[in-house]
Amino acid sequence: MKTFNMAAPVDPAEGVVAHTVADVQAAIRRAVSKGLRVRTYTTGHASATYGPMHDALVIQTDIEGGVRVDVDARTARIPAGSSWGEVVAATSPHGLVAVHGTAATVGVVGYMLRGGLSFYSRMFGLAPNSIRSIDLVTADGEPRTADGELFWALRGGGGGFGVVTAVEIDLFPVSSVITGASFWPVAEAGRIVKLWRDWAKDAPDTVTTSLRLMNIAPGPGKPEPITSGQVVCVDGAIIGDTAESRSIRDSLLGPLGEPVHDTWHAAGPEAVLATHMDPPNPVKSFGDHMLLNDVDADTFVAAAGSGSPLLSAELRQLGGAIGRPHPEGGVLDHVAEPLLYQCVGSAADPATTEAGRRRAERIRAELAPWDTGRTVPSFVGSHLQPQGHLDAEQVVAVDRIRQQVDPTGLFRGDICPNATVAT
Ligand SMILES: Cc1cc2nc3c(=O)[nH]c(=O)nc-3n(C[C@H](O)[C@H](O)[C@H](O)COP(=O)(O)OP(=O)(O)OC[C@H]3O[C@@H](n4cnc5c(N)ncnc54)[C@H](O)[C@@H]3O)c2cc1C
Repeated sequence: MKTFNMAAPVDPAEGVVAHTVADVQAAIRRAVSKGLRVRTYTTGHASATYGPMHDALVIQTDIEGGVRVDVDARTARIPAGSSWGEVVAATSPHGLVAVHGTAATVGVVGYMLRGGLSFYSRMFGLAPNSIRSIDLVTADGEPRTADGELFWALRGGGGGFGVVTAVEIDLFPVSSVITGASFWPVAEAGRIVKLWRDWAKDAPDTVTTSLRLMNIAPGPGKPEPITSGQVVCVDGAIIGDTAESRSIRDSLLGPLGEPVHDTWHAAGPEAVLATHMDPPNPVKSFGDHMLLNDVDADTFVAAAGSGSPLLSAELRQLGGAIGRPHPEGGVLDHVAEPLLYQCVGSAADPATTEAGRRRAERIRAELAPWDTGRTVPSFVGSHLQPQGHLDAEQVVAVDRIRQQVDPTGLFRGDICPNATVAT
C-alpha cells in the first residue's frame, strides 16, 4: 500500500483500499473474523506516526463521490480520500475557502481530525472547528453520523474511533489574497528572525506567516540565489487584496530589507497552495515538532542555521483565532501557544538521515527553554516523539467515549500516543 512518506511504508497483515462505505463495513467484518485489529489512513503523509501494523487489517480510504460544494450554505461535503488540492479547486471559483493546509496533496480527513493549521487559521481558527459533521463506520460495522460526545471527541481527540468516510466542513468567503515567499541569505537570519518575531506578536488576524531556514534543491521555479546555499524564507497569506492587506504586507516585508527572491503577489485563493513550496510527489522524510512559548532568535539561528543538513527548520506564527477556544468546538479547539516549531529532514539514505536526525536533536535541546511540552497532532513527526495536545482530564474523557464505540479496542492502534491512558 502506498504512503506519501516513503521512508515509513506500512506493513500490515492485510490491506484494503475502500471506495465505498460498504467496502469499509466489509473490511471491518473481515478483520473481526480473522482476529485482526483495524487501522486506517488516507494518503500516508503521517505514516511515520503510525507505529507497527503487523496485527492489523489496514483500510486506506479512497471513497468515491468527489467534493460537493453548497455555495449558498457555504459548506463542502468531502469523501475520505480527497486531498486539499481537490477541495481548493472546487471552492476557489466561488470565492470560498476551507481552512486548508499548505500542501495540495495532504488528505482532508487526517488533517482535519489532527488539528490542522492553515495560512487562514489566525482568522478562521483551528481546522477541526470548521467541521460540521463526520460520517464514520465504527467497530460494530455500522455507519453513523457522529453526534454528541463522539462528535466532540473526534475533533482532535487523537483517533481510534473508527473509519471516517466523509466530512462536511464550513467554507469562508475569501475571493482574493496576497500570498508568497521572500528569501534572504542565511547570513541575514538573526536579523530577520528578530524582526519577524516582533512583527508577528502584534499582527492582525487576517495574516498568517511562517519563517524557515531552508536548504532548497535546484528545480523548476527555484532560481539560483535560493538554491546555492541555506536561506531564510518568510511566507504566508494575507486575506484580501485591499489597501489594508497591502499595508499589512508592507509592515511585514518592508523592515526585512531587499530579498534575493520574492514571490509575494495578489491572487485568487487557489494560489495559497503554491506558497509554501511543499513537495508535489511522495518523499522520504522525517520530522520533529514542538509548541514554543517564545524563542530567542540567536539561539534558533545558531541551532538551525550554519551547516544544517535539514531541509527546513520552521517557526510558524500562531495566535489570533488559533488561540481562542471555540464555543462549539471539539476537544482540540484552540492552541494557546504563540509559536510552532517543526523541522523536516531528508531520509533519502542512511547517512543523510543520521546527520539530519542529529541536527534535529540539537535543535530540540537548544530550544528546550521555550518548549511547552505541547504539540499539534498534525505536526508530530514520529510515533516515538513526545506528544501532548490534550490535558489529563481530556484524555480520560476521550478514552471513555472510545470505550463506548469500540469496547474491544479494535481501532486502538490508531490512537496518537499520549491521547489515551490505555497501554
Ligand atoms: C508536505 C506536507 C505539508 C503539510 N502541511 C500541513 C499544514 O500546513 N498544516 C497542518 O496542520 N498539517 C500539515 N501537514 C501535516 C498533515 O496535516 C498530517 O500529516 C495529516 O495527518 C495528514 O492527513 P492525511 O489523511 O493526508 O494523512 P494520513 O497519514 O493518511 O493519516 C494520518 C492519520 O489520520 C487519521 N486518518 C486518516 N484518514 C482517516 C480516515 N478515513 N478515518 C479515520 N482516521 C483517518 C489516521 O489516524 C491516520 O493515522 C503537512 C504534511 C506534509 C507531508
